[in-house]
Amino acid sequence: MSQAIAYCDYNATTPLRPAAMAAMTRSLQDVGNPSSVHAPGRSAKGVMEAARETVARGVGARARDVIFTSSATEALHLALDAARDSYGDLIVSELEHDALWEATRDADEMAPLRATIDGVVDLTHLEELLAAAKRPLVAVMLANNETGVIQPVSRVAAMVREAGGILLVDASQAVGRIPVGIAALDASYLVVSSHKMGGPPGAGALVLASGAAFAISRRGGGQEQGRRPGTENVPALAGFAAAFDADGVSESVRIAALRDRFEQALRARHGDVVIFGETAPRLPNTSLFALPGAPAEIALIALDLEGVALSSGAACSSGKVKSSRVLAAMGVEPALARCALRASFGWATTDEDVDRLLAALDKVRARLGALEGAA
Ligand code: PLP
Repeated sequence: MSQAIAYCDYNATTPLRPAAMAAMTRSLQDVGNPSSVHAPGRSAKGVMEAARETVARGVGARARDVIFTSSATEALHLALDAARDSYGDLIVSELEHDALWEATRDADEMAPLRATIDGVVDLTHLEELLAAAKRPLVAVMLANNETGVIQPVSRVAAMVREAGGILLVDASQAVGRIPVGIAALDASYLVVSSHKMGGPPGAGALVLASGAAFAISRRGGGQEQGRRPGTENVPALAGFAAAFDADGVSESVRIAALRDRFEQALRARHGDVVIFGETAPRLPNTSLFALPGAPAEIALIALDLEGVALSSGAACSSGKVKSSRVLAAMGVEPALARCALRASFGWATTDEDVDRLLAALDKVRARLGALEGAA
């Protein structure tokens, strides 16, 4: 990362890996629509199909079951459409990203699945919901974008199968950070995103378990075996595949050590810090924490002025800090949730970035304390 900014917001998006940049640059220098039959078209198709093989291998699927999309959001929506004739009721975890939550929350047949204080889906509640559901489609993410908490997806899958349902798993934050296999998860639909793992934005995929139902919902040029029309973004897919090949999972030990050192130091300096989800298994790179009395919207601006890029836990696509639906689902007090900050690290994070983040947090806290004292 450039010296100027300590970038600690990998769950929002990651810097492009050099291998992804190189693969994209090569692809951008070529012309060719992968649907064209001439040599340049065939060459673009070769790049795209190699990318498909890589993504498929990365999640243990068959290449023909990988459908490229423009984003994880699009892949999630495509999965809902693909499954539409195969389910009656819909059960969606309250921990899901807005990309899915906002698309399903108002559906008549949707039942929200509660979470525990640890940030894990409530399996007792799932059992109750499944008992009352007909042919349910259940959506549970693999790792939460705010807390990093890894969900017990294999147990969820066993319960869903038993109830005669099907499972949709958003693995956007997990792929490239922990091992992900569609068969081990027993998901019918798996969603991955390029820009969370060091690839470019503008690429994602819906991966199908073999035999998963696919109702065609969009008609057009017949790309992606007629399942997602529109000319594929070959340079982005080349970058996506290079990011998969970089094997982020092997970097996890280093990144977990950075995160753990960050949390230990935070605790040593601020005895009242609250770390959300720490009692559950978490992604190696994520820390969602609150310094009581330091509201996120003020802290984020102050951190930005210090050259440290962090997020509040909640999505802020409008540029405004929203209160976190995930922390509310975990039963966190609104006053504490307002102070939630998310540090998320990745392939280019250095010890120096972590030190700068810690120093900036010290400053912010001291300044807010001084303001409180003066008031
Ligand atoms: N799902 C999760 C868990 C996410 O964290 C995000 C992005 O933050 C998305 C889906 C949406 O991803 P995309 O930006 O690729 O649409």
